[in-house]
Order: sequence, then C-alpha cells, then structure tokens
Amino acid sequence: MNIPEDNICARDGCGFHVALVMVADMAMPGRWCGEACADYEWLRRGLAAMEPTAETAALYGNLRGVADVLDARTDPTQVGPLVGGDAG
Ligand SMILES: [Zn+2]
Repeated sequence: MNIPEDNICARDGCGFHVALVMVADMAMPGRWCGEACADYEWLRRGLAAMEPTAETAALYGNLRGVADVLDARTDPTQVGPLVGGDAG
C-alpha cells in the first residue's frame, strides 16, 4: 500500500482527490482521480520505455495535448478512459 497522505491524484499537475476503488467489496482510495489520469500515466510510462525517435517525440506532443485537456477539467469525470476498448 502506498497511498499519499493527502490523497491527491498522483498525476503531475492534477489537483483532484483520488477516486475510490472497490477492493474486496471495500471502497479504498486509489492513486488517481479517475480513469483518464490512470490511462495518462500508463501511456506516459509506456512512452518513457520506448527508444527516443521522431515518432516518440510526436507522441510526447500528443501526450502534452492530453495533459492540457486533463488540466482544464473542473471535474475529474469530464474526461473518461483514454484507452479505448479495442486497443488491446
Ligand atoms: Zn488526476
């Protein structure tokens, strides 16, 4: 268990409180305010693990655009999951 004391979403630049996640039928604080931030961090980590190329540079640009959208939310549920169901 590694829950930040203040229960603020772990994504950089996000000020929302974490969402509760169901663990064994108990509502426990998660790491993220919602699925959008969880997906964002998943994408960011995946990108960080790739060889830096012109292609990853472009993807980083896309990711910054996503971060801007996430930062502009007034409610964490305004943006749903970033990773679609058919992405594997
Ligand atoms: Zn967040």
